[in-house]
Amino acid sequence: MIQDIFPKKLDNQYQDKKPLENSIILVFRERQILIGQDARQNLSLPRLGELGRQIGEGDWRSSLQYYFSIEEMDYFAFQGEVAPFGAYEYAPVRSFRQMINKEICFAIMTGWHLHQWYSASRFCGRCGERTVQDDRERMMRCPSCGNAIYPGIAPAVIVAVTDGNRILMSKYADREYKKYALLAGFTEIGETAEETVRREVMEEVGLRVKNIRYYKSQPWGIDGNLLLGFFCELEGSDEIHRDAGELAEAGWFERDRMPAHDDGISLTREMMGVFERGEEKAF
Ligand SMILES: [Zn+2]
Repeated sequence: MIQDIFPKKLDNQYQDKKPLENSIILVFRERQILIGQDARQNLSLPRLGELGRQIGEGDWRSSLQYYFSIEEMDYFAFQGEVAPFGAYEYAPVRSFRQMINKEICFAIMTGWHLHQWYSASRFCGRCGERTVQDDRERMMRCPSCGNAIYPGIAPAVIVAVTDGNRILMSKYADREYKKYALLAGFTEIGETAEETVRREVMEEVGLRVKNIRYYKSQPWGIDGNLLLGFFCELEGSDEIHRDAGELAEAGWFERDRMPAHDDGISLTREMMGVFERGEEKAF
């Protein structure tokens, strides 16, 4: 999956770090990121020194926000405007959910999640005062009323419903992602993840399930989620009553006729691969 960058490791513990000349700087503009892509699809992100030569010196460096590091490389974000320069252009953040340069793609997704949170936490939701980054942990603090705002992560479930040698797959309505997927949905306040599984399956396809087993999780920063993967089995009728507002298609697929395979990136596709190999009973 995209977060599996072993032997390297993402370290997102907050630290009050200062950028070095070769630190990577994430520059987001709307839903895009400043990035270099060559003809072979090699990706590169701008370094502090390169940005400095482009936009000149000045106090913009002091506004750089430390995000995380991957091994020795520190990643910061710049909140200002930078025009495209040299090999660097703006490209949609969502286009980097892919296998090439997995480490950079994971860094972009994680950076985007942090960027979304920082952007939405600049003012206190309780009293309206401008917030400041706490100096010890990843938290925005309101200097006026003391409100503490921690990073928001939305838990959501990915559900593989199986029935012997069949698995339920669907296509979303009105989404960019057009391939076959497993059922998915957000956890509501006051609900367990297992209850989310039961509720979402009932809402989206009108089926009952049993034997719900947790598989693995995946951070999915593009949408601010932590995805929790579950296998479960059909209970009772296999007749699908599709929620047409959520799903464009839903149907049963035989194990040896799977329309989609593991792409090395998403939890959904890894779970499809587990089923295709007949390994879902192990979880
Ligand atoms: Zn406040």
